[in-house]
Amino acid sequence: MSSVTPSEIIALVREHQVRFLRLQFTDILGVNKNVEIPASQVKKALEGDILFDGSSIEGFVRVEESDMLLAPDLSTFKIFPWGEPGARVARLICDITMPDGTPFAGDPRGVLKAQVARAASMGFTMNAGMEAEFFLFKLGPDGVPTRDTHDVGSYFDLTPVDLGEEARRAIVIALEQIGFEIEAAHHEVAHGQHEIDFRYADALTTADNLATFRFVVRNVAQQFGMHASFMPKPIYGQNGSGMHTHQSLFRAGENAFHDPRGAYELSTTAHHYLGGLLQHARGMSAITNPLVNSYKRLVPGYEAPVHVAWSLRNRSPLIRVPARRGTGTRLELRSPDPSANPYLALAVMLAAGLDGIETEASSREPVHENIWEMSHRERRRLRIDDLPRDLNEACDELEKDEVVCAALGPHITEHFLAAKRQEWRDYVTQVSEWELREYLAKY
Ligand code: MG
Repeated sequence: MSSVTPSEIIALVREHQVRFLRLQFTDILGVNKNVEIPASQVKKALEGDILFDGSSIEGFVRVEESDMLLAPDLSTFKIFPWGEPGARVARLICDITMPDGTPFAGDPRGVLKAQVARAASMGFTMNAGMEAEFFLFKLGPDGVPTRDTHDVGSYFDLTPVDLGEEARRAIVIALEQIGFEIEAAHHEVAHGQHEIDFRYADALTTADNLATFRFVVRNVAQQFGMHASFMPKPIYGQNGSGMHTHQSLFRAGENAFHDPRGAYELSTTAHHYLGGLLQHARGMSAITNPLVNSYKRLVPGYEAPVHVAWSLRNRSPLIRVPARRGTGTRLELRSPDPSANPYLALAVMLAAGLDGIETEASSREPVHENIWEMSHRERRRLRIDDLPRDLNEACDELEKDEVVCAALGPHITEHFLAAKRQEWRDYVTQVSEWELREYLAKY
């Protein structure tokens, strides 16, 4: 944590002529929320004195306990790169507390902080890097997002520059201006699909970064008349968007996953952590893949995982161990998608890994064959499970997984499951285009 003081922030606000300050947090469903205050109220905000009505936020509180406080984390102060001087906007990421200052059990950032503290008590720091893929779609004349990608058929297009590529470059520049270290930016497999990778950091910083990343990407895209969507599978028949999460534990500044003498040059700690991820893969799906639509990505044939297994080479399994060793030794969990709440997703991954370490979970053997091509029988023989097939099954698995529920705490578990069960009921009672096409004439 940096040691930024309130007076330093007040000085920056003056110097850069910041007009508004956004107090940012995410709700349980991972949606960025903010309370915006004018510059005149900054001092009050820095003292953690901004009350807001928690009952207006999905899954936050019951009506009788609706007053919550925003407690800003001063190290997260950033001025957004757009806006003229005098109309600039800055932000601070906040923790949510009860009016008496105690942490609020429904705050996802608090849930991650608790797991980070648990890791610290075991001597570990988690480092994580998240690769959030997204689509850039054109906005319709009415401002409503379409699914037209500017680059479809761009081969025949006479415009010299692809609007999507141009927008992506502008996004990278904006991200760099607020301090992101961008390692790579490229077009992904599907039409209009992009990926921008920023440098890994400790788990809390990465979750904060991901929340900011989604906001900046959407904002800059809009300036180009485009909509950036983090929906996991917007187009049938094309790759969906993943949020592959690279993770490792450090102990006393050293990568605790590396051991030159260990199997595959991985330490016992890494093997147990991997075992924990495998063991809780089904239980944490509802958190890492929280939408009805998430499960349309997790199907064979689109570079997304379907089965619970790991590999050193193959891209089809749930967990891949990239070739890098030494400080860069890490595990890549490939199931999460970018609609996930980054705080809760990192919290349950860390909880699963730490549980693996505590219970000395087995990492089993890596699987190098293409699992999609194996028969059901073969998979059974190798004890390769399937990930949940839909959100309903994922909710059942979450409810059964005590480690994941304990990490989320009863408040979030209860509110999250209630919201997701409702989402599922809404979905299954719809009559879809597919059904009409298949059944209406035939029956
Ligand atoms: Mg990718």
